[in-house]
Amino acid sequence: MALRTLFLDLNSYFASVEQHVQPALRGKPIAVAPITSDSGCCIAASYEAKSKGVKTGTRVGDAKRLCPTITIVDARPRLYVRMHHRILAAIDKHIPVDRVHSIDEVSCKLDRTQHTRAACETLAKAIKHQIAKDCGKTMRCSIGIAPNRPLAKLGTDMFKPDGLAIFDDADLPRAIEHLSPQELAGIGPQTMKRLQRQGINTIADLLQRDQKQMRELWGGIIGERWWYWLRGDEVHEDKTRRRSLGHQHVLAPDVRTREGARAVAFRLLLKAAARLRHENYAARTLTLALRFTREGIGQAGWNSTSWDAATSLGEGAVDTPTILDALALLWDKVPHDTPLLVSVTLGDLITPQSATLPLFPDEAKRGNLSKAMDSVNNKFGANTVYTANMQDVRAHGAGGIAFNFVPDLNFADSVKARQRQGAEPPLTDAQLDALIETGIAADR
Ligand SMILES: [Mg+2]
Repeated sequence: MALRTLFLDLNSYFASVEQHVQPALRGKPIAVAPITSDSGCCIAASYEAKSKGVKTGTRVGDAKRLCPTITIVDARPRLYVRMHHRILAAIDKHIPVDRVHSIDEVSCKLDRTQHTRAACETLAKAIKHQIAKDCGKTMRCSIGIAPNRPLAKLGTDMFKPDGLAIFDDADLPRAIEHLSPQELAGIGPQTMKRLQRQGINTIADLLQRDQKQMRELWGGIIGERWWYWLRGDEVHEDKTRRRSLGHQHVLAPDVRTREGARAVAFRLLLKAAARLRHENYAARTLTLALRFTREGIGQAGWNSTSWDAATSLGEGAVDTPTILDALALLWDKVPHDTPLLVSVTLGDLITPQSATLPLFPDEAKRGNLSKAMDSVNNKFGANTVYTANMQDVRAHGAGGIAFNFVPDLNFADSVKARQRQGAEPPLTDAQLDALIETGIAADR
């Protein structure tokens, strides 16, 4: 079990970028929110705010109660994307980035010369130093190095901020067996409840089970994969193909209605469909998921009920009308509760070569219309052309940052910037870069 994977996770990413470009905020409790009114949700909190109990998902109003001195900062997705590219460039000076998992998470494959613990320590320190130099000392990261990616990722969560965890033969499984399975990526509260019902509370309990039992625990192949991963084995994964692409959005209080949620779902799907074409894929499934508020529970989202359904998109759809039609059919099944969060995912992605070409002229026309909409939106801003049913919710669901992908600059914009459109032009890339440079100058 050689050390094969390095996983890097930026600490409190959006909050750190804001502290970097606004040196006056360094060392202070801050939170970043796309909607800064009390009902909005924090999407990142600085360590100073985290120590007062503010986390991702805390409502702005609650954050102010928990930490009265907190500064709430308007989210600036384009700035975060700009910094993301700078961070990738810094890492790349030491090791090629193999996969970008989200705006603040990447993984790299170690080569044969980097398999020893000493070599890994040197490499991790060099990367951290490079990021501090090129991107600012405020941009700290945690690095995990392990025989496979799930364990390397686990390592990034163990020491924060500015952590380094290396798991090699001598450490496994001792270094991880005391942890809760919920520390593992992809094991959410639902899976955890199921594991607890089977008497599993720690990774040590999981290690007692054989492959067949692991498969039964998860109800599928993923359980068996965990059997291998926990032992430091690599499991073959399809590395060349993105398997899904989607967006989710927490609804602002004034659109927590069935109609409001519906319009946001269409908006999100429109954005996902444009990305699908931009990245040159076709999708074979569409999944719609919602979370609903439960009466009497204040911390919405963390004590909510959920619902989801999926539908086939045939041999591979790329055009917006076909995908929106599928959503309209799915929407009829949505329960009549108070919606809180909407998520749409285009799944089972294939490359267009393997998708069937449109058989009917009408389908070809639909494809051309979608491409035309994309080019107008790319040129004049994300929401210049939109479908009629989205008119009321253009401002909602538009600035949300999906954590499972890195937004292309063409698709990223902030809610506030959108609301101000016409009043104050958004910063240019050069101005964003100048802000980052100012932050670096302040380090000296
Ligand atoms: Mg992070």
